[in-house]
Amino acid sequence: MSNWEANVRKVIPYTPGEQPNQPDMIKLNTNENPYPPAPGVEKVLKGMDTDTMRLYPDPTAGDLVHAIAQNYHLKDEQVFVGVGSDDVLAMSFLTFFNSEKPVLFPDITYSFYDVWADLFRIPYERPALDENFHIKKEDYFKENGGIVFPNPNAPTGVEMPLEDVEDIIRHNPDVIVIVDEAYVDFGGQSALPLIEKYDNLLVVQTFSKSRSMAGMRIGFACGNEKLIKFLNDVKYSFNSYTMDRTALAAGVAAVEDKEYFEETCNKIIETREWTKKELKALGFSFQDSKSNFIFATHATCPAAELFEALREQHIYVRYFPKERIDNFLRITIGTKEEMQKFIDFLKDYLK
Ligand SMILES: *Cc1c(COP(=O)(O)O)cnc(C)c1O
Repeated sequence: MSNWEANVRKVIPYTPGEQPNQPDMIKLNTNENPYPPAPGVEKVLKGMDTDTMRLYPDPTAGDLVHAIAQNYHLKDEQVFVGVGSDDVLAMSFLTFFNSEKPVLFPDITYSFYDVWADLFRIPYERPALDENFHIKKEDYFKENGGIVFPNPNAPTGVEMPLEDVEDIIRHNPDVIVIVDEAYVDFGGQSALPLIEKYDNLLVVQTFSKSRSMAGMRIGFACGNEKLIKFLNDVKYSFNSYTMDRTALAAGVAAVEDKEYFEETCNKIIETREWTKKELKALGFSFQDSKSNFIFATHATCPAAELFEALREQHIYVRYFPKERIDNFLRITIGTKEEMQKFIDFLKDYLK
């Protein structure tokens, strides 16, 4: 009998949200943006010369790095890009979390963190959020091998004030603190200005949500030059050409259109605030969200039942059958029209 299985790296993978494909569906389950990318993206893609596909892309992703650096008033050496922020975060775990001491992240948070930690055999602990789903900053003042949390947090939508984020960074000068800002453009306060002050801070963002490009896979990290250099060393030890030519070109076009970006973010914020009022009136409760989703529970109707009822109408939201959050639905903010239909269905169903 052979025993090759003994040498397999066995992992329990992350489960991505469902990607149904029905013409009439209202898709509020994976925090995508309901609006198309900036008009310049279409122009760039239509004008692409397929002959260039013969050639490897720029391994430094120089144009995209430069466009991002310009946009956030940073030096190119302070920016790292990857295939979505999932790729950037995975590289960051591999690069910065190499201690015997446990890495810390909340018990209720982005469910990829424990998957990467297990994959890379990084020990971790998950301090519990308080009963209102807020991070207790003091939990992150103890000895640890690194810290990562989203701000605003997912799937709760709760934002931690920047002073508290800074307090966590200040208490941890000997480890890297990663702030995952996947949702910060929807009204949160970014920790980006702090990268000049703290050399142990890495801020990670993505084009998937606020820039409507989940399908293109672009994420980035900002930090001091030394951190970014270490990240690039690991990247070049893994795959030099992470970003393809289309993503590089489309990404530059997306960052350059600030006006369109602000306009779509504002529309989503406005629709979110409208949706909050409607949900409250229907008997839902939730912590205040600063993201493009609302994590809500209903006073009488169980979340699992609502999830199924919505699904039958081809309205998709996200339900996590996990401890502490199994009576909640995570509802992505779509267009005003989509949210109106969603609310209309609930009004009828809950009456
Ligand atoms: C969506 C999300 C990501 C990953 O986004 P990419 O599509 O890989 O850029 C990372 N962190 C959090 C908290 C997210 O919600």
